[in-house]
Amino acid sequence: MMIPYGRQNISSADIQAVVDVLGSDFLTQGPAVPAFEAGVADYCKTKYAIATNSATSALHLACLALGVGFGDIVWTSPITFVASANCALYCGAAVDFVDINPDTFNICPEHLASKFEMAERAGRLPKVLIPVHMCGQPCDMERIRGLADRYGCRIVEDASHALGASYQNGEPIGNCLYSDMVVLSFHPVKMITTGEGGMVLTNDETLARRVRLLRSHGITREPAGMVQEPDGLWYYEQVVLGFNYRMTDIHAALGLSQLGRLDQFVSDRRAVARRYNDLLEHTSIVTPLGHQISESAFHLYVVRIPGKIRRAVFNALRTADIGVNVHYIPVYLQPYYRQLGFIPGLCPNAELYYEEAISLPIFPAFSVDQQDYVVRSLVTAVSGCTS
Ligand SMILES: *Cc1c(COP(=O)(O)O)cnc(C)c1O
Repeated sequence: MMIPYGRQNISSADIQAVVDVLGSDFLTQGPAVPAFEAGVADYCKTKYAIATNSATSALHLACLALGVGFGDIVWTSPITFVASANCALYCGAAVDFVDINPDTFNICPEHLASKFEMAERAGRLPKVLIPVHMCGQPCDMERIRGLADRYGCRIVEDASHALGASYQNGEPIGNCLYSDMVVLSFHPVKMITTGEGGMVLTNDETLARRVRLLRSHGITREPAGMVQEPDGLWYYEQVVLGFNYRMTDIHAALGLSQLGRLDQFVSDRRAVARRYNDLLEHTSIVTPLGHQISESAFHLYVVRIPGKIRRAVFNALRTADIGVNVHYIPVYLQPYYRQLGFIPGLCPNAELYYEEAISLPIFPAFSVDQQDYVVRSLVTAVSGCTS
């Protein structure tokens, strides 16, 4: 059987939590969603948490809550899942990409600084910047926040990889100290899962209220948020055009149960990363240099293999039943983005990274024997390709 690059970890307590909801009065819009939201808010030390049916929905709502629309520009990293950029297009805005630092795979603060300067001169400053904590390694948020503040740009952190990680100051990812909002994903390969699911975190009450309104059709039942006098106890008002992006109680119960094991998941992933670092130390394989064990959540462990042999090494590992992957194809090289006018060469570090990257398996229940097999297969494949 193929060893996957990532996999959920489901306990009997997780299963029981889901079964309990199935036998309860509420499958959705019940008490499990607010309980999960409160749990994550508490873990991340943030005031407000709004659960959604995916991180993609959460990114869309975060952009809408900041007023992103036609004529606006949103910047993100090219080395991310397409959803980090698509959210701006959903709102009718334009997207642009800031090149990465080759050691951290995150948005490079130097590139960001010069891109801001050029954008200011051209009168094309972005409204929102979406830094992505790639692989679970936090971006340099202090510098990014400093730059964004100077140019009046808002920040939404895409922390889909990084729940359980900590900023350079030791504070938990998601506390919104450096941003307006933080988005999380609960897809099964991510740090904890709800099957499908996501969340918006914020310390700003107005943004929280907007996100909550947009999550559920733009409908309010609170008289304070209404335009007209309530007509009766049944009365509700749709005041903006929203969506149904709600999470169900079934999903939330799984998430809350998983949250209790998040610290264990992170320490298991860090142990795998530390062991990869040790086992690969005296080989030609480039381990993730800028990734600090004490900070990263290690959603992914990406090694770099010279571009000439990467494809052959990748294929050899797949043949050995190892589910290696490549995260990610630079977003602007996707056909949809090419058709918007993006061309190769925009972000050279990102394109070189893409030529060389291989994501090795990493997940909480990954065994030492499996890891030894992966490392042995990798070293054999690389030496077979170089000799
Ligand atoms: C997984 C992921 C998303 C999308 O998450 P969904 O919950 O699947 O919508 C967005 N951004 C990044 C960086 C991701 O890894």
